[in-house]
Amino acid sequence: MRGFRDAFEGHRISHVSVNRPDLRWPFPADLREKLEGKRVLSFRRRAKYILMRIEGGWSMLLHLGMSGRLTISRARTNATPPAHEHLVLETDSGARAGLVDPRRFGSVDLVRTNEEEDHRLLAHLGMEPLSPTITRGGLAQLFRERRTPIKSALLDQKLIAGLGNIYVCEALFRCGIHPERQACTLTDVEAQALSEAIPQILEQAIASGGSSLRDYVQADGTKGGFQDLHLVYGREGAPCPNCGDASPIRRITQSGRSTFFCPTCQK
Ligand SMILES: [Zn+2]
Repeated sequence: MRGFRDAFEGHRISHVSVNRPDLRWPFPADLREKLEGKRVLSFRRRAKYILMRIEGGWSMLLHLGMSGRLTISRARTNATPPAHEHLVLETDSGARAGLVDPRRFGSVDLVRTNEEEDHRLLAHLGMEPLSPTITRGGLAQLFRERRTPIKSALLDQKLIAGLGNIYVCEALFRCGIHPERQACTLTDVEAQALSEAIPQILEQAIASGGSSLRDYVQADGTKGGFQDLHLVYGREGAPCPNCGDASPIRRITQSGRSTFFCPTCQK
């Protein structure tokens, strides 16, 4: 979102190309009509959704799905558009945003700016992981009656929205919490530790440009650097960064997602 915002905020959208009828869902039929000729007012992120607010009281809602990406470049170069580029936006200042999404798990929609919170994809989302509601008390309240594993509870977008698999694994390791523990067994001390670790990890990840595993890149096409700072994620069999060779990092599957953890350090 930050890369998109830097190139588009304050500029007028001069051209919109919709190159196929749908991603996960159909593109809005009036997408071109609503965007072309309008100035981009501001951007906002909610959970994993990007909201671009434009003149006329509308917001374009964008989700990149599993591996979609938005690449920002200069318009009107002679470069061949990349394969699977399904949506292109251009500004009168010469910026170009291309949405490439081979698997088409992404989504694009329009919503009235003053009704963003009521959109069907946003209405049931939980608290923001970077908001002041992430406190010891807030987390304790959230997990008080949940018997699901803490790993699954942290990934539940209805509880905390926008916290992904990598960052949950990293947070649980840093706090010494076993991923299979029932969420309701979290102690006050652990809730306090998590409430500090979650925003810390996300801020570090954003500052280093995110985590590039297979294909994630930033808006300017460069890879992120946070994968080099992962302590457990993707490090199955490697020595634990805390307790060393005695206890290699283990990988298990929970709710269909990989969990990486140290069986010694995480109680
Ligand atoms: Zn360890």
